Amino acid sequence: MNTKSSYQYIFGPVPSRRLGFSLGIDIIPHKTCTLDCVYCECGKTTHLTCKRSHYIQSELVIEELNNYLETDPPHIDYITFSGSGEPTLNDHIDDIVDFIKSNYSQYSLALLTNTTLFSNRKLWEQIKNIDVVIASLDAGNESIFKKINRPHPQIHYQEMVDGLIEFRNQVHKQLWIEYFVVPELNDTEEDMLQFREITQRIHPDKIQLNSLDRPGTESWVQPVSKEKLAYLARYLDQAEVIHEFKAPDFQNSVIQPYTNRILSLLERRPCTLEDISASLHISLDQVKEYLHDMIQHRIIETKDMSRGIFYFVNK
Ligand code: SF4
Repeated sequence: MNTKSSYQYIFGPVPSRRLGFSLGIDIIPHKTCTLDCVYCECGKTTHLTCKRSHYIQSELVIEELNNYLETDPPHIDYITFSGSGEPTLNDHIDDIVDFIKSNYSQYSLALLTNTTLFSNRKLWEQIKNIDVVIASLDAGNESIFKKINRPHPQIHYQEMVDGLIEFRNQVHKQLWIEYFVVPELNDTEEDMLQFREITQRIHPDKIQLNSLDRPGTESWVQPVSKEKLAYLARYLDQAEVIHEFKAPDFQNSVIQPYTNRILSLLERRPCTLEDISASLHISLDQVKEYLHDMIQHRIIETKDMSRGIFYFVNK
């Protein structure tokens, strides 16, 4: 039986700016993706593919989930398919959706996806019971899509957008679109008007504007101010800026052996002290204590960003 510090496929619950406390499920090997986005917080894509496969056996993920959820987990707002690759590449994603909906229906399910496989009707069927689909779309045309998202050669912008429009028409679940603003690539008035036209054909429930929040793949990608994001949001319908998550204070939590859980979290994405504290429900001092040794041994490195110092695994 797994202990809570040795999970391979689930992580968190992490404090998410959109979903509150989100228990992540990672069903794809590290950096296996259809895209190689310039802003990716998980690093460069090492396996660029559009081939769907049973990359991680569903039974293993289900065993971990069951083990975690049956043992009185901390508060969870969403169980979210996310991680360091594109979850819809796993062609058995429905096994896990069905398991959660049949056994833990009290939890809402979310999917963070890059949208590239939405022309596949079999996928629609597999994900139709997910409560919220958050689909990334950072461009209003193929040329910007290629510059920002650097897709696999068999992925085409128009096909992807048409697939998303059709999915929206057929599957009536919450659909949010995330537009990641990369300065000088997709932040002009013309870019926004072109993107607006596309979103008016999709009719999402929400559009969320986001920008760099933690270290990205390419160092030239810079964060955008909240004011600029708010200004750009005015071009779009139902648009909002993703706000920082305000985590509760956990100063009195009990110290437990959290080293593996911190590593598991940082392997998926760089975090600040506050992110780790909120995710693992331990105090800032406790986080510092755990990080100290790992930094000394160069297991973990740091990077200074506008939101604070980020910690990430030295690979
Ligand atoms: S941001 Fe998402 S879609 Fe883009 S390369 Fe990273 S994991 Fe893939």
